[in-house]
Amino acid sequence: MAAAAAAAAAAPPPEVKRRRRIVLFPLPFQGHINPMIQLAHILHSKLGFSISIIHTKYNLPNPSNHPSFTFHPISDALSENEEPLLDPILTIKLLISSCTLPFHHCLSQLLCHHRVVCLITDAIWYFTQAAAEEFGLPRVVLRTSSVCSFSAFAAFPLLRDKGYLSNRDSKMEDEIRELPPLKVKDIPLIKTKNEEDVFEVIENMVAETKKSSCLIFNSFQELEGPDLAKLKQQFLMPIFCIGPLHKYISAASTSFLTQEMSSISWLDSRAPKSVLYVSFGSVAAMDEEELAEVAWGLAESKQPFLWVVRPGLVRGADALPDEFLSEVRERGHIVKWAPQQEILSHPAVAAFWTHSGWNSTVEAVCEGLPMICSPFFGDQMVNSRYVNDVWRIGIKLERGMERGEIRDAIARLMKGREGEEIRERGVCLKEKASLCLSEGGSSYLALDGFVDLISSFDESLV
Ligand code: UDP
Repeated sequence: MAAAAAAAAAAPPPEVKRRRRIVLFPLPFQGHINPMIQLAHILHSKLGFSISIIHTKYNLPNPSNHPSFTFHPISDALSENEEPLLDPILTIKLLISSCTLPFHHCLSQLLCHHRVVCLITDAIWYFTQAAAEEFGLPRVVLRTSSVCSFSAFAAFPLLRDKGYLSNRDSKMEDEIRELPPLKVKDIPLIKTKNEEDVFEVIENMVAETKKSSCLIFNSFQELEGPDLAKLKQQFLMPIFCIGPLHKYISAASTSFLTQEMSSISWLDSRAPKSVLYVSFGSVAAMDEEELAEVAWGLAESKQPFLWVVRPGLVRGADALPDEFLSEVRERGHIVKWAPQQEILSHPAVAAFWTHSGWNSTVEAVCEGLPMICSPFFGDQMVNSRYVNDVWRIGIKLERGMERGEIRDAIARLMKGREGEEIRERGVCLKEKASLCLSEGGSSYLALDGFVDLISSFDESLV
């Protein structure tokens, strides 16, 4: 009895516990910021943690959209660059090399003033593992993409040993026996000057994740159960799928570009389930010829469409030909950036032509929307293969941007029996996505497990 009373006396009162702090460090790109800030809101509003966000000055989210959090900007090489860098791997390498010291300094300052329970960082910020270890702080990794693509990244050494990575041009259609249903062309590579840079970034990301205290995904058991089970055999730390995170709080508050609301009023005037929504996310880029193929594929499909042509989507001039614009005037609407989540849940939208970024994929799954997939690089290659072959809720374009294939895929998805079957599977998955968040569902329980783990970190703090 006396021991219990002493323990109760030593335990901090609940109001102090509320002030326990978690430090988060997102990678400053749209598809990485959205889920990290969504996670921060869950930890704060549902669980009562105080939140500090360490952030690069580059792409700093607007702090006034998140008045409950404190933001700690650190300097980085990109914010001083006038011209945006087009090579994602060189961009990441530059960010990592320029942020390592400022991050270390910022974290040490926060630790002087607060009782920090743990550090949550994007998987690509791999250098933060060493800092966390130095300060004796548990590091939780948020991998903002799918379990299946992370497993493919983790398999790079095996792919290299088995020869899948060399002379790829001659064997693009070959199946990878060790990673079904992936083919050589689905390996999540990223085009860059020196391919060794890709391997360096990926292998460091995987190795430092292995040393972390916990790994979380914006995914759910019913979608990726078998891949999750396999990953748990290789990665021995606790792993939780707690998504879909955007169902707790929308991505609008973290959008870097202004979302054009004219998209919604335009959709309001269209018939139910008649519109194809087209967006290739925040990073993908295409050349002028590919832009023309997309445009003429849409024109030849004769379907109504809403298309996001983001600044920077086209390497070169992004002006669309007058002939195309006059042909689609009655049934096409083009915007620079859109309120994507509202669009995907709008009754007029029938399907989504996407680059298969993971946030876009999960957002579409949650609305039961069938997809046409045009992956550009990295994890998108794996996500799109799973949409086509495993979940069978969409059609992957296999020939890049080619107007004939585009026109046919739109017809298959929006008109035929095949499209109806794809849509039925999508509706089933939508129900599972909704159930997993309700009481007793897989992500609900995983979030409980994650919170128990964080609480155990907290109790071990002296
Ligand atoms: N998005 C948006 N408006 C748009 C296009 C995209 O708000 O016009 C959001 C989308 O909802 C998603 C994110 O931007 O949350 C893109 O993330 P994703 O992982 O799909 O792709 P990335 O941009 O990282 O390639």
